[in-house]
Amino acid sequence: MATDLNARFQQAAADSKQLSKRPDNNTLLKLYSLYKQATAGDVTGSRPGGFDMEGKLKYDAWAKQKGKTKEAAMQEYIDLVASLKATQSPSKAQSSKAESQTTPSQLPPQQVKCPLCGSTQITANPQGFSVGKAAIGAVLLGPAGLVGGFVGGEKIKITCLNCGNIWEPGKE
Ligand SMILES: [Zn+2]
Repeated sequence: MATDLNARFQQAAADSKQLSKRPDNNTLLKLYSLYKQATAGDVTGSRPGGFDMEGKLKYDAWAKQKGKTKEAAMQEYIDLVASLKATQSPSKAQSSKAESQTTPSQLPPQQVKCPLCGSTQITANPQGFSVGKAAIGAVLLGPAGLVGGFVGGEKIKITCLNCGNIWEPGKE
């Protein structure tokens, strides 16, 4: 049983070096302290002084494990590595990275203009219905973007309030 635990501990130690993502500092310190407790037992030596910040952090983390049996430390180490592996599978990390890289930049808001005079003072009047600016944008995005109620053969015409030009969206 003890040798089985030791084997799993050695495997976890090897696995911890294969993690796709570097764990945060607190987790690294936890791994370090559990590893030390499991292999060397209670903390030894004196706390590093001066500017050895990393040495102090490691010493303190190890000191927190004081009194824990090697077996318990091994088991905690194994569990911690297992949880780290579960939360950062390589394929998952890669796909989310690729996703963020391939996400197209948002299209600029489409400015609806009269093709004749360039005025943005326009209105869409399908069969007498007046629609808001948002609906006009949807109309100009093409038939698929037509506002639900207008679909079904109704022709939508856009009227320029500046020059009176009337045109159908989608027709050049
Ligand atoms: Zn116009």
